[in-house]
Amino acid sequence: MADSILDSLKAGGKKLTKPRRAILDVLERSPLPITASAVHGRLRKSKSPVDLVTVYRNIAMLQELGLVTPVGLFEGQMRYEVRYGREHHHHIQCRGCGRIVDLMLCPLKKLTALVEQRTRFSVDDHALEFFGWCPQCQ
Ligand SMILES: [Zn+2]
Ligand SMILES: [Zn+2]
Ligand SMILES: [Zn+2]
Repeated sequence: MADSILDSLKAGGKKLTKPRRAILDVLERSPLPITASAVHGRLRKSKSPVDLVTVYRNIAMLQELGLVTPVGLFEGQMRYEVRYGREHHHHIQCRGCGRIVDLMLCPLKKLTALVEQRTRFSVDDHALEFFGWCPQCQ
């Protein structure tokens, strides 16, 4: 696990506890964003199971520290993915089979400048996901 993660935890006054490490491991190994209950499910089969409440609480904390990004797709349930070591990107999900694909592009630079200009906010993040029908489901 990268030092930067330990630094982020330390800066937030948190330790890398066993459940936190286990949760980050699951998220690191998942190429696509997964739900908290999926994280819980994967940990249940491991040597150190973590209960669902603990999974939710720790994911919220990791999100606050900027280590984990929430991804809101159409399912009504948040998914999560690690932020470090991965390029900023967006997703597209199929409404038919639920398949998710990473979109390694971000077209929002100009829009961000416009938003800042109009609102005088300092924008530091945004969320954008696409939905549609994959080739198999069309
Ligand atoms: Zn599909
Ligand atoms: Zn992703
Ligand atoms: Zn973007």
